[in-house]
Parts: sequence; structure tokens; C-alpha cells
Amino acid sequence: MMQIKPNISVQKLVSPLFNGVDASVLRLDEIHSVVSGNKWFKLKYHIEEAEQQNKKTIATFGGAYSNHIVAAAFACKNAGFTSIGIIRGEKPNIFSPTLIAAQQYGMQLHFVSREDFKNKELLKQQFDTNYYWINEGGFSYTGMLGASEILQTVDTTSYTHIIAACGTGTMLAGLINAALPHQKIIGISALKGHAGLEKDILSILPDTKKNKTFSIFHNYHFGGYAKHPPILIDWMNELWQAENLPTDIVYTGKLLFAVKDLIEKAYFSINDKLLIIHSGGLQGNLSLPENTLRF
Ligand SMILES: *Cc1c(COP(=O)(O)O)cnc(C)c1O
Repeated sequence: MMQIKPNISVQKLVSPLFNGVDASVLRLDEIHSVVSGNKWFKLKYHIEEAEQQNKKTIATFGGAYSNHIVAAAFACKNAGFTSIGIIRGEKPNIFSPTLIAAQQYGMQLHFVSREDFKNKELLKQQFDTNYYWINEGGFSYTGMLGASEILQTVDTTSYTHIIAACGTGTMLAGLINAALPHQKIIGISALKGHAGLEKDILSILPDTKKNKTFSIFHNYHFGGYAKHPPILIDWMNELWQAENLPTDIVYTGKLLFAVKDLIEKAYFSINDKLLIIHSGGLQGNLSLPENTLRF
């Protein structure tokens, strides 16, 4: 896997927005310009495994704005693999910035209907079962193992709570796997009504960790996946002005809102020390009209 920025910063939140609670943000968004945030960690062992299996081609799945797709395209090119992206939905007339970038990194894109996209096993057979296949979002034990290393990037031992956004839950599973006994793990789901998330997370944890507890909040989706009503945009701008912290409309804007809201609701106590994972994804903001965000 390519090098990432060696000294990952931890940004302490200082504005009144967080009521003086001891909260810091692990800035994984800064580690690499393309394979940003949690994607580098989730892909790391997949790429290694594909090398060990002497595969030539890596194939994976995602939506037209998927950070995973563009990160996988870059990581595959960097490691010398041919890459294939199976994209959900009909081929658009105008490609999203994500798809354009993925293509520039050599990924061959194939568009499949939303209906066909649901049956991944059939798609694998229709393409080539000999490819090294990575699930959507890197979801697997292998992806979880890479995400476990997020907590090794800085000294995280003193934090009492580790809080992160969830899509597939792969990153959260890694955090649960790596957390110390005194640390509580909290996930903020970016999807509306993702009822199977807890079960999915448990399914990729090592057997020895399946009894660990974790909490997921399902009520901070702002209307659904990637939905971004004005109240969310206003919050992201307010956060930028108060803390100089850029967030994205799909995951981290909602994550930071949830933290602020939970603090207001006295969910945390005065002795708690929070570590919020900034999992990247700022490219997603490119889908917004110009001047929507102040950053
Ligand atoms: C992909 C992504 C996530 C979701 O990670 P999962 O491991 O699928 O839960 C969270 N935050 C950002 C910024 C992402 O790009």
C-alpha cells in the first residue's frame, strides 16, 4: 500500500459548540489526497491478499459517488492491478467527479441496474470469479482487520469514547476489534433504517470479540443516505467557522452533528474524553453547487 502522511493530527475541539467537553478529532481525512480517511485502512489487506493470491485483476462495487470506488481505483493502479468497478444504476450521461477520477486511475467501469446490483454473487459469476473481489465498502473480515489499525495511528489509550460514522460498518468493526476494555465505541449510521447494521458488524468481528458491546445511533441520517437538507449544510458551515474543521455531507457532517447533539442531551459525562474519527470523504462535497459550503 502506498505511503500515507506520517504524522496524523488530532484536532482538539475548542469552540463553545461542544460545551467544554473534552473532544478531539482524528484527522484521517488528511492522510492521502485520494485514498483518504478510512478507505486506505480498509483496502490495505485486500491489496495484500490479492498480491499473495497472484491475482492480476481486482473488482469491486459501489455507487456513482462512492469514495470506495475512487480509492480502490487509485490503490489498484498504485499496486499494479487492473481494476474493475461495478457501478450501481444506469450509465449516466454526465459522469460524477468520482467516476471520472476512477476512470483516470484506469478503472474499467460497468454499469448495472439497481435490481441486478443487489445480487452480488450472480454479478461475480457474470464477470469473472477469478478476479479478486472486494465487497462494497470493503466489508469483510479483511477490511475490518485493516480498519483495526486506525487506533494505532496516534496514542489513543486515554480516550474513553471512540465515535465514528457508519456506512457498511466495516470501520466500526475494526474500531471495536482494536478498542481497549475501558473504551466505548459509538457508531452514527449514515443510512436511514439500516436495521441489519449491528448484525453485519458482528459478522465480521473475530470470534473472541463478538461479545464486545457497542452502540449505534440510527437517528442522525438527515432524511437518508447522502441527503443534505439546509440544516445540515448550515451546521457544516458553522462548524467550519468555529473549529476550522471541514466535513462532508454523507458521513462526517452528520457525525459531528450527532456528537454536538449527544453532548447537549448530556449523554456524556464530565470525565469523558472523546475521540471522533474523521473518516475522510470530502470529495463527496463536489456534488454540491458552488458556494454551498464556505470551505
Ligand atoms: C466510506 C466512508 C465511511 C463508511 O465506512 P464503513 O466502513 O463502510 O462503515 C464513513 N466515512 C467516510 C468519510 C467514508 O468515506
